[in-house]
Amino acid sequence: LGAESMKLLLIGDSAVGKSSLLLRFTDGTFEPHLNPTIGVDFKVKEMVLGGILLQLAIWDTAGQERFRTLTPSYYRGTQGVILVYDVTRKETFMRLTSWLNELEMHATRSDIVKMLVGNKIDKPDREVDRREGLQFARKHSMLFVETSVKTQHGVQCAFEELVIRILQTP
Ligand code: GDP
Repeated sequence: LGAESMKLLLIGDSAVGKSSLLLRFTDGTFEPHLNPTIGVDFKVKEMVLGGILLQLAIWDTAGQERFRTLTPSYYRGTQGVILVYDVTRKETFMRLTSWLNELEMHATRSDIVKMLVGNKIDKPDREVDRREGLQFARKHSMLFVETSVKTQHGVQCAFEELVIRILQTP
């Protein structure tokens, strides 16, 4: 039996932990000083959920987000989006709406499932509390998880819940 393939995207400001999240999920690794210029284009990960073999193609911005806009091909055919902010940098939370606008402008399908991720909760200097994240997610019909790529908290959950919701979308 062939695997069902799915395209997922990571978006959000620079340095919020998108590449780290992807590498933690696909390779189980964490680099405390990830070189931002390296970036990752995309990774494929197989996952079995509810007896279904899935092949996830997960796209990362590879540094393009620094120009605050991503090429339309990046968005093409995307079924799920993970929008990441850093709970210790309020400005990355304040930029969420413009990321959603950017997504809406380029999305090629109307039923994209969105997961909001508040990352770096292991750090002491939090500037965005959990309730703010949850409220934003509710307002924009998004799923929501707080994560720490460092401790692994919430990482698996972020991807799994997104994929489950996509599978449930008719
Ligand atoms: P990107 O630009 O959004 O892809 O962000 P990166 O994945 O390059 O991460 C930026 C920096 O934050 C790197 O030095 C990571 O090691 C660090 N980082 C990512 N996630 C976490 C986390 O959950 N906790 C901590 N303490 N650092 C993190």
